[in-house]
Amino acid sequence: METHDIVIIGGGSAGLAAAYQASQNGCHDILIIEQGVECGGILQQCIHNGFGLHTFKEELSGPGYAQRFIDRVENNPDIDIWLESTVIEMRNDKTLTVVSPKKGYLEIHAKAIILAMGCRERTRGAIDIKGTRPNGIYNAGQAQKFLNLDGYLVGKRVFILGSGDIGLIMARRMTLEGAKVLGVAELMPYSNGLARNIKQCLEDFDIPLYLSHTITKIIGKDNLEKIVISQVDENRQVIPDTEMEFEVDTLLLSVGLIPENKLSEDAGIKLHSQTKGAIVDECYMTSIPGIFACGNVLHVHDLVDFVTSEANKAGYWAVKYIQGQTGDGHLINQIANNGISYVLPQVIHENAQADIECSLRVQAPHKDCQIIIKSGDFQKIVKKRSVAPAEMEKVILRVADLKQIHQDIEWEVREC
Ligand SMILES: Cc1cc2nc3c(=O)[nH]c(=O)nc-3n(C[C@H](O)[C@H](O)[C@H](O)COP(=O)(O)OP(=O)(O)OC[C@H]3O[C@@H](n4cnc5c(N)ncnc54)[C@H](O)[C@@H]3O)c2cc1C
Repeated sequence: METHDIVIIGGGSAGLAAAYQASQNGCHDILIIEQGVECGGILQQCIHNGFGLHTFKEELSGPGYAQRFIDRVENNPDIDIWLESTVIEMRNDKTLTVVSPKKGYLEIHAKAIILAMGCRERTRGAIDIKGTRPNGIYNAGQAQKFLNLDGYLVGKRVFILGSGDIGLIMARRMTLEGAKVLGVAELMPYSNGLARNIKQCLEDFDIPLYLSHTITKIIGKDNLEKIVISQVDENRQVIPDTEMEFEVDTLLLSVGLIPENKLSEDAGIKLHSQTKGAIVDECYMTSIPGIFACGNVLHVHDLVDFVTSEANKAGYWAVKYIQGQTGDGHLINQIANNGISYVLPQVIHENAQADIECSLRVQAPHKDCQIIIKSGDFQKIVKKRSVAPAEMEKVILRVADLKQIHQDIEWEVREC
């Protein structure tokens, strides 16, 4: 059986950064397995600007950002890349089954594995919309791929369901290509996209955002003809007699992303109910020793810079694991309480020796609030001017904090 020190599943921004970091930390046998024809992942279809402000202190396009990392791994003697190759099975003994045009069907054993498979879009099947099933309904990311990579504009009169970032970016992109975007409907009373995308993709193009609205009917025999939206109350129940009808030929769905965790599930990795990704410790190691996770397969990110910084840690710790070093001490749970959806890492070792950067998301927007972190007698308060579910927050637990923490850590958000 072929063996490697570190095998990375997925050559998107997470996989590329993890590979480079592992090489920088002394690993000379790293394999990236990527199912696409090139590395870069989702970034290759994101031709807009806005990537890399933290990492490179400049605004790059998606492919531009990806290329910076491709340049670091291509021709790197420590890193081998298999393109058009898919991992179809992962076992808990760190054996992978791979299908590859060059190698055929084979099994590979790794001393450490880094999961970097990204995420997929929720489809119409995941939400309940009444009506027919005509042509003209796409996931927003799928329409983005058609337009930006294949040069195919999917429609001319467009409505978008969901105000996540992909939907917002596609509202602007389709407008720039000559389509008429009639509006974006969002179930929640607030947007699920970054504030800068609301401004730059909707407001700057006079595209209406219908908050607390959802699509209640899809009309069309062969092709989409109309959609009906209705207002919802605070319990997300449709309010009668609030219908508005739009004549459209295209509906784009931007209703959420789900980490791509089929392989993880099959291997028996413990997944988190909220993130739908693996439960990890401060080393980004999953419940199976030697299997690490980073990027969108772990939890959905809005900023690629955060993916890169997380992948750097997974790459670093995968090398340390091979050298026999892992987290030390018993595991302490990080518990998301009032107003917090999740905190990651979900567990940390009591004797962690370095600062731990925690990522979290809140359940609803708040202004002038505090994030309160408690464990026994320890308490830390972090003031925030505003927080929103769309924007991932970062809080650092310093080594000095960690010295005072010996039991479960509870997180909550409170308005001042
Ligand atoms: C439409 C959109 C717009 C965005 N806009 C911005 C922005 O403006 N600014 C910003 O900073 N961030 C933005 N982001 C966020 C950021 O770009 C992503 O979160 C990040 O690129 C995700 O990287 P990843 O490596 O985790 O996943 P991906 O890029 O999805 O990479 C995963 C890779 O794994 C491969 N793979 C999956 N399964 C297997 C398997 N079984 N075997 C082999 N290979 C496999 C896939 O082919 C893919 O290449 C945007 C994201 C999207 C989707």
